[in-house]
Amino acid sequence: MIDTHAHLESEEAPALLERARGAGVGRVIAVATSIEGCREALALSEANGGLYASLGIHPHEAGGAEAARLDELDELLAGGRAVAVGETGLDYFRDYAPREAQLRLFEAQLSLAAAHGLPVVIHSREADADTLAALAGFEGTVVCHCFSSPGMLATVLERGYYVSFAGNLTFPNASPLRDAARLCPPERLLLETDSPYLSPVPLRGRRNEPAYVMHTLDALAQARGEEAAALGARIDANADAAFAL
Ligand SMILES: [Zn+2]
Repeated sequence: MIDTHAHLESEEAPALLERARGAGVGRVIAVATSIEGCREALALSEANGGLYASLGIHPHEAGGAEAARLDELDELLAGGRAVAVGETGLDYFRDYAPREAQLRLFEAQLSLAAAHGLPVVIHSREADADTLAALAGFEGTVVCHCFSSPGMLATVLERGYYVSFAGNLTFPNASPLRDAARLCPPERLLLETDSPYLSPVPLRGRRNEPAYVMHTLDALAQARGEEAAALGARIDANADAAFAL
């Protein structure tokens, strides 16, 4: 099984990856949110088999110094190790950065993804209309990370994007999300932890880690009335296709 979205600290990564392998999670995509994070994710991917790096600057950073480091991001992407650009997108829930700045940074990273022929990993919170508008001109592969917007599903599926479910799929109040999960064609599904955030039931309140993606797989299988092992294999194959692993 693969965890397609985890935030890993270098020091803790070996132990987390070992526990993941023990749980049947042999592959992890480490997702960066800053330039230093990009360098760390790349180093981790070089040092650990089964670990891949996605490089990007988070919308939370759009108002600060990180946003001026796109040349560095471009250079790191040119190294050829990264499997995706992201996470990038828009966050109007936290609104840590001015919206125009978020949009500029998002569009710049979409251009980088197009230039390097890489998929994009999208973060969208309470910004669905603007996110979809910005993505309309992007012709590459799109992964909707931590999918939490059932209202966006029809457009997302119509455009052929991947839908990545995280631990919030297991929450008791998440039945609209589980309905969305049922409606997804099998070839569009991905799974992730978004660790260290969003631990799935029954581990809520604990620090999340890649091993726990198995709980979200169980919830997804249950929601869809499918067998978990077969669904997990399908999702693994989807990740191979989405990220060209
Ligand atoms: Zn994330």
